[in-house]
Amino acid sequence: MKTINSSEFEAEVLQSGKVVLDFYSTECPPCEALASKFEDLSLLYGNDVKFLKIFRQGNRELADKLGVKSSPTLLFFDNGKEVGERLTGGVKRIDIIRNLDNLLPAEKVKSIKSQIKHSVSEFDVIILGAGPGGLTAGLYLCQSKVNTVLIDIALPGGHVSTTHEVSNYPGFIEPQAGYMLSHNMSEQTKLCGTIYKVAVDITRVDLEKKEVIIDEYETVKAKKIIIATGTTPNLTGAPGEKELKGKGISYCATCDAKYFDGKEAVVIGGGNSAVEESEYITRFASKLTIVHQFDKFTANKQAQDKVFNNPKINILFENEPRSFTRDGDKIITEIENVKTKVKQKLLSDGVFIFIGMKPNIDLFRDKLELDKWGYIKTNEDMKTSVDGVFAVGDVISKKYRQITTAVADGTIAAMAIAKELD
Ligand SMILES: Cc1cc2nc3c(=O)[nH]c(=O)nc-3n(C[C@H](O)[C@H](O)[C@H](O)COP(=O)(O)OP(=O)(O)OC[C@H]3O[C@@H](n4cnc5c(N)ncnc54)[C@H](O)[C@@H]3O)c2cc1C
Repeated sequence: MKTINSSEFEAEVLQSGKVVLDFYSTECPPCEALASKFEDLSLLYGNDVKFLKIFRQGNRELADKLGVKSSPTLLFFDNGKEVGERLTGGVKRIDIIRNLDNLLPAEKVKSIKSQIKHSVSEFDVIILGAGPGGLTAGLYLCQSKVNTVLIDIALPGGHVSTTHEVSNYPGFIEPQAGYMLSHNMSEQTKLCGTIYKVAVDITRVDLEKKEVIIDEYETVKAKKIIIATGTTPNLTGAPGEKELKGKGISYCATCDAKYFDGKEAVVIGGGNSAVEESEYITRFASKLTIVHQFDKFTANKQAQDKVFNNPKINILFENEPRSFTRDGDKIITEIENVKTKVKQKLLSDGVFIFIGMKPNIDLFRDKLELDKWGYIKTNEDMKTSVDGVFAVGDVISKKYRQITTAVADGTIAAMAIAKELD
């Protein structure tokens, strides 16, 4: 593996055979998460593919010329020509491997794969999910000198990292940017010494044996497991939603509202997220229509007042979306009044959907006792129905899902575990 600069790009990349080039930055958590995977794979593929790194901030002109807009970005080249996918953000090992394999003949890939050794690591506690619940459990366990690993399919932070502003987390006078709050939580836990395995693929979870297989080839074992996998946004199920996801339909205002400068948006939903995020989207959008199935919002009164007094926001109560279609750059949302059955079409530049969440339990659905909505049942120590398995945060059966409640659950599970392991 070698680090190059712009002046070496021509010789090292364009006049070379098979190359993978990592544009990285400093103070970039996804770059840090990628670094060990990149190094690891260079040991396997390094004889056949050249592994290069280039510092993006120091080589901006080249980055701009190549259209590299975020860090890290991995580019694959074959004989001077860019091939395969560009990988950015929380880059997964499995995606790098797929692109490396595509550079090489099948026989070569087979021989490389035969060298991969299945590794096994052992800890006291595995935490699945690095949102506020998992991060807090990690912090408390680490401070109790319990050897802990945090595993996440994405980067640390959970929902907080994509919430534009958090004004109800105690200890801060001013509202905090969600990404900063989650960054600080994550750094605090990491600095303590908790091991992170993030942006990984989870191949299998065996709750009885307390084993998690990640990226196919790595088994992580422990004495206890904490499930802190949170929730995923619900879909409306209306035709066109899946096809337009990420292409005009979004589930994250923090991620996408900034692209709505002077544009028009539709928001589906009427709970806290829908109402609060609508207010935020109008910092950018010139007009916003909220479509809600009931005749009143379920959001808190303070948030409702802001929306009712916002001249950019129009509200259509008792309406549900029936379909989403694209018309050039615009999205057409067909809605139907649930009482009168009258349909109408809303033309906008994009749609945000905030209609609640479902628990992330696919990997262990059959093993645990769940409530009727599919959330994990726990006792007061956060213990689940499986011995040695705890669950915390939004994924558990409870009435209120907030950062503070997830943090509290994480604290309780960690303290209970530390006591048991003592
Ligand atoms: C738009 C929005 C705005 C919000 N605003 C506020 C607010 O202002 N104040 C407030 O208190 N709360 C707010 N909340 C709620 C708050 O974000 C959650 O209650 C809190 O994040 C729950 O923390 P958690 O750790 O349980 O789960 P999450 O934050 O959901 O984190 C779960 C983590 O688990 C990971 N994961 C998922 N599946 C797996 C798997 N199979 N294996 C390993 N890892 C996995 C995910 O990648 C994620 O990192 C908001 C929520 C949303 C959606």
